[in-house]
This record gives sequence, structure tokens and C-alpha cells, in this order.
Amino acid sequence: MKTNRQTAFTKASLLCITLLAVSTQSAYANVTPTVGKWSTNSKSAQNQTNNSTDAAAYSTGKTRWNNSTDFLIGSTTSTSTFTYSNVYNSSATWDGICYYTWSGGYISGARTYLNNYFTDSYTSSLRNSVATHELGHAIGLDHNTTASQSSSVMTPYTKVSGVARTEYPQSYDITAVNNLYAYGFAGVQSDSTIPETTATGQTIVEVCFSWAEGYNTLEDLYKAADVVVKAKLAKTNSLTNKTGSLEGIATENSLKVQKTLKGNATLTDEQITVVTEIGESSKFQVVSDQLSPLQLNGTFYLFLKDRGDGTYALINGDEGVVSKKDGKAYKHVKYGELSEDQLEQLK
Ligand SMILES: [Zn+2]
Repeated sequence: MKTNRQTAFTKASLLCITLLAVSTQSAYANVTPTVGKWSTNSKSAQNQTNNSTDAAAYSTGKTRWNNSTDFLIGSTTSTSTFTYSNVYNSSATWDGICYYTWSGGYISGARTYLNNYFTDSYTSSLRNSVATHELGHAIGLDHNTTASQSSSVMTPYTKVSGVARTEYPQSYDITAVNNLYAYGFAGVQSDSTIPETTATGQTIVEVCFSWAEGYNTLEDLYKAADVVVKAKLAKTNSLTNKTGSLEGIATENSLKVQKTLKGNATLTDEQITVVTEIGESSKFQVVSDQLSPLQLNGTFYLFLKDRGDGTYALINGDEGVVSKKDGKAYKHVKYGELSEDQLEQLK
């Protein structure tokens, strides 16, 4: 089959095949995963920041992607389905966020934000790291959870134990972008398995959170939390903001606290509200593979940030949850199975 088709290949394709053949399995395994792609290998982005500092960080990020990959992030002052902006959100643990929508198996919209609650105190290189990272999302990259902080600008954390993520697209990131867009882009197939709308016609929006701080151990996560409780989910309630835009969509989770491991002991036996930034409005359903809906009647150990308004947020989405499934062991998305003893000993 290969010989029959070989004449149709361009030199570029052959080069591509050669590179694939010589790349080692482990190197290939670290190539940054992707979420999808635009239908073209260039897209004009609209600057919606309200300050020159963030605009400059994004501009730096654009130049870095444009200089190192075959994708071109252009500029427009007109309305675009690709926008970059900033927001101030003191109740979140993300310093950057990207929302995607899909159409025909392609990305049809990407909106990114820097969270000035964190980025205002960042050095310019850290801010550039977040802006470059968010633009990486916008052009189709997912998080690279296997690469080190220095070998991908798409690791999920700006800092882990004081180690900052690189501010430049690295080879794993560049390879991923060029796999999506390079060499005869018209031949690249869209992914028709990506759902665009729900059965009731809501637009599905996928949200990608970029965390300010990552934690190597459960103990580090415990130290970072304002409150750690064992609690049972009693009810959930969808919140939508008044403008009907997707950014205000969230879910209020009401939980009955069984035990307080860290924080005010008077929380025990009380009801607390944990706000998660996924949910639905009549128009949108916001989902994330970094933040799963909490299961009704499920019992969890929760690592929480005090939102300052009497409610709490999970630290780093699913990473702030230890849950028990079907009466089996407690499980954490990163630290694996944990016994109740291990969890109680954190106190
Ligand atoms: Zn991210």
C-alpha cells in the first residue's frame, strides 16, 4: 500500500515520515496533546485586553508561536472568533483560562483570559509564560502533563514547588502544532467525533484551566488549602450570570460537612457551598476534563480555597477532590488510591 501511494507524497511528507520513524517512542509520548484544530492554518486574533501590560504579553506570545510553528496568529480589530483578554478573579486558582467551541469537527471559537489576580504580581517572563500558554490552547493544544516545566509551555501549572514553566514553545509543543497544521493542511481531517451541541441544542463549551500553582504531593495540596473537609454532596444548583454569557456559568454544590481536617472546626455538621466553574445555561453547557461534576450523595475529601464570600472553590478543579467510588478506596486524580488513614493523617 505504501508503494502505491508513495508517488503522491511530496518531499515534505517524506521528510515528515522520516522524522516520525527516527523519533524515539518516549520522545513521541511527550509530544503535547491537542484538543482540535482550526480549519485554516492562520487565524486573526482580536485583542480584548484593557491594559497594555497584558496586551504586550499576548503580543510576545503571538510572535513566539508565529516564529516557531507553521500556524500564524494574525491581528484584527474586527470581531473575531479568536479573542484574548484579561479578567480579575480572586476566587479562582487559575491564572489563565481558555474556552472553546466546535463546528464541523473544527475549533470554531477560542477565548482566552489572563487572571490579573495572579498575573499582576508576576514577573514579565511569568506573564509571558501564561499568555504564550493560553495562545497555545487557542490554536489547539491541550495540557502536557508528562513533560517537565522546562520542556513544554503547555504544562498545566505556571509554577510547581517554585519551579516556573518555560515561557517559550518547546519542541514538544512545536511538533504538536505542526502535526496539526503543517504540510498540505487541506488534507488534515477534522474530528467529527467532537460533539458541538447537546441533545437540547445548547452549545457545548469546553473550558481549559491553567493553574497558577501545582502541588507535587497531597501534603503540599493540604498546606495550600484554606479548608479541608470530608463532606457529602446534598444538592447542586446551576448559576448563570445575568448577561447570559458563558463566562458566568457555574454550579453551586451544597455539601454537608462530616469532618473538618483544616479550617474552622465549626464547619463540621454545617452545610457549605462549593462553586465549580462548569454547568449550564439555556444556551451553553460548559464542560472540562479538568473539572468533573461532583456526584450527588458522593462523599469526598475536598481541598478548598475560601472565595471570601462565604463560599469555596476547589483547588485546581479535580485535583482538589478525593472521591470514593462504589464503596471502594478513595481516589485522587494525581496521587492515586488513598486510604482513609492516609487522608486523616494529613491533619
Ligand atoms: Zn492551560
